[in-house]
Amino acid sequence: MIRLKDVEMEYPNGTRAIRGISAAIEDGEFVFLVGPSGSGKSTIIKMLTGEEVPTAGRIMINGFSVSNIAERQIPMMRRTLGVIFQDFRLIEKKTVYENLEFVMRAVGMPKKEIKQRITYVLQLVGLEKKAENFPSELSGGEQQRVAIARALVNNPATIIADEPTGNLDPERSMEIMTLLVKINQLGTTVLVVTHEKDLVNKFGKRVITIDQGRIINDSVGGYVGGHI
Ligand code: ADP
Ligand code: ADP
Repeated sequence: MIRLKDVEMEYPNGTRAIRGISAAIEDGEFVFLVGPSGSGKSTIIKMLTGEEVPTAGRIMINGFSVSNIAERQIPMMRRTLGVIFQDFRLIEKKTVYENLEFVMRAVGMPKKEIKQRITYVLQLVGLEKKAENFPSELSGGEQQRVAIARALVNNPATIIADEPTGNLDPERSMEIMTLLVKINQLGTTVLVVTHEKDLVNKFGKRVITIDQGRIINDSVGGYVGGHI
């Protein structure tokens, strides 16, 4: 569950990146967030993950009030989120298995459970044969699937993907989006930030379009406006 109420964000240099946004994303939804470069997409993601604090308004995410969260509560809030980036951000010196194990150890998961869970998520993303490979031995699409597996291992309520297909060719992009839809169908709320209009239109999901820090459209099926 994500709720934004009259959210504004003005950076210290005076840039008003977000100019009054209210929106709700319910548990189990799949939502695309789209908009031209500079419209405020990254700023929204950073406010959701607690990296930036809004200058006005309220943000609730999975029961946490992110807009005025205590520093010590941030790790607990982050555990309810799995975040995926355009550049994968895998640890190059660790194998696929170790990349996943690392984030599970960080939350104190017992070793036996770690093994079972990693086996399950690697199967889910279709990489069960790559557990012992290093990221450099995988294609871009495979690396992104590892990043998705890593985002899922701790069973977050919500997945946030920031331009997850930005470094992939159209076919690989389609595979990644299809995988995110499958994960959503298994019960995880998914928010995907993307520039890829054609891809978005193929899925018929809810699309929130922002421009200059405001929501200009929020509807199911595809997005209006040709300049994105
Ligand atoms: P998008 O992700 O849609 O490209 P951003 O959220 O990155 O948009 O940026 C929204 C606006 O805020 C832009 O005008 C951008 O230049 C500005 N901006 C982003 N980050 C910062 C920052 N750290 N300091 C100042 N201005 C910023
Ligand atoms: P994207 O288009 O992928 O969202 P951007 O080019 O908007 O990326 O931003 C890249 C990084 O630079 C982000 O971390 C953003 O916060 C920062 N940034 C963007 N615009 C500014 C700005 N005007 N001043 C300082 N940092 C900025």
